[in-house]
Amino acid sequence: MKIDRLFTDRRGGVSSSPYESLNLALHTGDDPASVARNRNILQKRVGLPIRFMQQVHGDNIAIVDESSPETLPDCDAIVTNRPGIALAVMVADCIPMLLFDKKKGVAAAVHAGRNGTFLNIGAKCVKTMVERFGCRSGDIYAEMGPSIRACCYEISEEMARLVRKSFGESYMNGRYLDLQSLNRDRLLEAGLREDRIDISDICTCCSTDHFSYRREGTTGRFAGAIWIENR
Ligand SMILES: [Zn+2]
Repeated sequence: MKIDRLFTDRRGGVSSSPYESLNLALHTGDDPASVARNRNILQKRVGLPIRFMQQVHGDNIAIVDESSPETLPDCDAIVTNRPGIALAVMVADCIPMLLFDKKKGVAAAVHAGRNGTFLNIGAKCVKTMVERFGCRSGDIYAEMGPSIRACCYEISEEMARLVRKSFGESYMNGRYLDLQSLNRDRLLEAGLREDRIDISDICTCCSTDHFSYRREGTTGRFAGAIWIENR
């Protein structure tokens, strides 16, 4: 089955500073009319209706079908086996993670920030794909889009200690956290193959083409989107 995906950046939208320009999130303080126009721009690019999440840095996972609302409340991962519906995750430093199984035709969008990562949201979403849709974890591909990387992701000493204790030394360089490796290793534990996990080398905090909460504070959100092609 053909499964397509894309990651937006901050270009090509209508919002003005500090949301310039393709801000897709309503909760940021941007003009809702601009966000609606930006979402329209994304929908035209995708060519399908898009489902978003009201993301809460938790580990709730929702199943999406044709009857789902445009915004799924209170969740950080959405999964579907329905062709013709795009799933989106919105971020500005957190990892936009897309999971897909081409054999079974199942797609998922996951919001993997620090908290979601600590809650193991990626592996939990893999488990949902296996249990609800009969996927084999070895068939699942993962793609992590632009996100804040260890060059910029300084965390508190207390948090750094917690990461070392809970997950191991290798994810910390001083007080700089390697969130991508932490997620990759949880996905490997969940049964994904290493050669099926792709990690963007773009750091959102270094890249001026992306929104970065760490760099900018008040800013917009870009998105990862995934969909199963209509046949
Ligand atoms: Zn950086």
